[in-house]
Amino acid sequence: MSAEPLDGRSDFWARLTLPALPAAACVDHPELPWVPSVGSNGGKLNEMRSICADCPEREPCLEFALSHQTVLGIWGGTSHAQRDLMRKGHR
Ligand code: SF4
Repeated sequence: MSAEPLDGRSDFWARLTLPALPAAACVDHPELPWVPSVGSNGGKLNEMRSICADCPEREPCLEFALSHQTVLGIWGGTSHAQRDLMRKGHR
């Protein structure tokens, strides 16, 4: 595991090296825009959420993203904006 903090687009796939997320389902779907480059998810948001819903790592993935505000993209079935709301108590 890297000692570098996960931060931003280029580090999204680093989650796959996290010992805490050994069964990340997104590794099987690199074609999906897990980190939109220009804010667009290409209409694939529901597809990604569906994959996250069945992922065995959903809970630790979401907790990681909630505690690392700088990570971007879909984590645990949530967007960056949704996680901001969750941090403000809108769970
Ligand atoms: S919950 Fe979603 S983003 Fe997180 S590891 Fe699983 S598939 Fe990937």
